[in-house]
Amino acid sequence: MKIITIVGARPQFIKAAAVSRAFAKQTNIEEVIVHTGQHFDTNMSDIFFQEMEIPKPHYNLDINGLGHGAMTGQMLEKIEKVLLEEKPDWVLVYGDTNSTIAGALAAAKLHIKVAHVEAGLRSFNMNMPEEINRILTDRISNILFCPTDTAIANLKAEGYDNLPNKLVKSGDVMQDAALFYSKKSRKPNFDIPNNFILATIHRAENTDDLSRLKAIIDAFDEIGKNNSIILPLHPRTRQIISKNNIKINENNIKIIEPVGYLEMVYLLQNCKMVMTDSGGLQKEAFFFKKFCITLREETEWVELVQNGFNTIVGANKTRIVEAFNKQNFDLKFDINLYGTGNASDKIATDLLNY
Ligand code: UDP
Repeated sequence: MKIITIVGARPQFIKAAAVSRAFAKQTNIEEVIVHTGQHFDTNMSDIFFQEMEIPKPHYNLDINGLGHGAMTGQMLEKIEKVLLEEKPDWVLVYGDTNSTIAGALAAAKLHIKVAHVEAGLRSFNMNMPEEINRILTDRISNILFCPTDTAIANLKAEGYDNLPNKLVKSGDVMQDAALFYSKKSRKPNFDIPNNFILATIHRAENTDDLSRLKAIIDAFDEIGKNNSIILPLHPRTRQIISKNNIKINENNIKIIEPVGYLEMVYLLQNCKMVMTDSGGLQKEAFFFKKFCITLREETEWVELVQNGFNTIVGANKTRIVEAFNKQNFDLKFDINLYGTGNASDKIATDLLNY
């Protein structure tokens, strides 16, 4: 069975690391990896392939730095060419980026079966490009690998019981990655304070709205007066901060370049808590038993909020600082929300048996 995997953005490399390892164990699966080029810097792309031992992409389409329409359009055109040449049995896509929808659409139009990993997630916020990508990708995928019960329920509420798409609760492949790489974590090469807060900001709703970005940075500055904050800064956020001359007091916020996954796992293992607008990092905080403050108005990972592991605070300085001051350090993270680390193996066997 030939599977073409489409990846392009950082979180997809991490998911692919787990799933590609499961595919490699199956002698009758041949995987061909297509990297769209959406993320291309060494520390946003290459480092993950090297450290996580993801097979080298067979194709790199080198598409980046464009608006949504041009980016998705070019991907669609170039992926279609690859599919015509490779004639795969399946195209596998991850998550919710432009690479996801482009891969799924190119395949569906050629009547090639599509598998969507991390299907069924919803923020119910149609202003998010990710939400549009998810909804459309789910609808044209033959098999929907859902990480959670919530994801299955979301699809059923949209009428998927009456549609031919196959729904599978696979568990979360990011849980697989976290378990596998937790034994391989690596201390970054700088002084790491005790009890630090691990923070990231990169969602368009925060970076493209300067008042939100400034409110978050102000909140970090306030919290950082008495606490250490480490902020691996996404290139998009860095660019916007520098273009708009936004001042950050680096005495209160330690800004570093994005790190590879092994160092990220070390930071997760050793931090006091997480503040983020990242989807993946909210779950990783839970995997590593850390409380998370989410700098968004909603989350797709509602089970974290329902169980008290995550608080949604938006981009409001007062709410962020209050949530930080009120956090509960007595949480027991002893509930299984995302599977037991075998989601990737299930995906491989389900594709073989489809
Ligand atoms: N991550 C990383 N290095 C960093 C920041 C994040 O390896 O400097 C990892 C993080 O641990 C998670 C993934 O990147 O596995 C999340 O990606 P991102 O926040 O870019 O995307 P999202 O999850 O919001 O789609």
